[in-house]
Amino acid sequence: MEALRAGQRFVLAGHVKPDGDCIGAQAALAGTLAALGKQVWIYNPDPPEPQFDYLTREFRFRTFDGGALPEHDWTVLLDISELSRCGPLEPVLRAANSRKMVIDHHVHVGPPWWDEAFVDVDCAASGLLVRRIARALGVELDRASALGVFTSLVTDTGWFKYSNTDAETLATAAELLELGLEPARIYGSIYQRQSAELPLALARGLSRLRYHAERRLAVIDLPRAAPGESELVDSDLLLDILRSVEAVEVVLFLREAQAGTCKLSARSKTDYDVQRLAGRFGGGGHRKAAGATIQGSLSEVRERVVAAALEGFSTPAASGGRA
Ligand code: AMP
Ligand code: MN
Ligand code: MN
Repeated sequence: MEALRAGQRFVLAGHVKPDGDCIGAQAALAGTLAALGKQVWIYNPDPPEPQFDYLTREFRFRTFDGGALPEHDWTVLLDISELSRCGPLEPVLRAANSRKMVIDHHVHVGPPWWDEAFVDVDCAASGLLVRRIARALGVELDRASALGVFTSLVTDTGWFKYSNTDAETLATAAELLELGLEPARIYGSIYQRQSAELPLALARGLSRLRYHAERRLAVIDLPRAAPGESELVDSDLLLDILRSVEAVEVVLFLREAQAGTCKLSARSKTDYDVQRLAGRFGGGGHRKAAGATIQGSLSEVRERVVAAALEGFSTPAASGGRA
């Protein structure tokens, strides 16, 4: 905490394809540090998705496209604990003579490498860690910072559906509403402004569904969109539909991102640990939600990932769609 009080210039860095939790946590910390009179720059390897425009109107999110970073005392990594997930920012952050802080809720593999950390793998969202930090610093959240924390909470808990939703999550959400946030408006901004092609992209994805292990495992492998088709970038809708099947315990969504590169999203409804599975392919995440970027053709990657996933089913099927 002393580091945040003593530092003057902060670069807040996020992961490739920053999600709602990552940019929400950055927004909330930027607002908190600005309230303490600090200089703050938010940098990501990729821009926030357009559905988060209500946040990008409040805070400046810079996309790192080479060149130099401003002189700064502290680099703060949010929603990641590895510089290797910062894409093109990695070498510049490594070379910077700033000290490094990590604010994260992912399982970290390997020895700690940072100067300072706020890591809690049981915390629902990185934005919730920032809420704790703001409180410890005695900073009242303003509306814009509150929007950041709320975005983190709702995107990482699947709008309070997933097992990481706890009393602190809901109590914090209630506090944020007291500050004037309107959940239905935020829901509409994030989830109800998709393109007319989205349902068709979903249908294309669903047509690739295959079950394994007596339907305990559901797998979709999606090749790159053909010309004229739209890419299914946000996979959460698809993952939700697959998880709705009673027999299904584990869901794997494999998407060919570029020729020879596939992105895995894995979700679990039971004790099955998808973070371990993703870890076998160089990825990571949480026990119930994890991902990895895997080199190889879609069919070859699919075969390897399904084989590895099936090895994890050593226990009998969970009864009655247990959560
Ligand atoms: P996603 O399936 O992309 O929504 O990611 C689910 C979780 O896995 C998130 O908490 C991510 O931070 C984590 N994750 C996704 N991709 C990777 C990766 N390539 N390496 C490490 N963690 C990842
Ligand atoms: Mn994230
Ligand atoms: Mn997160």
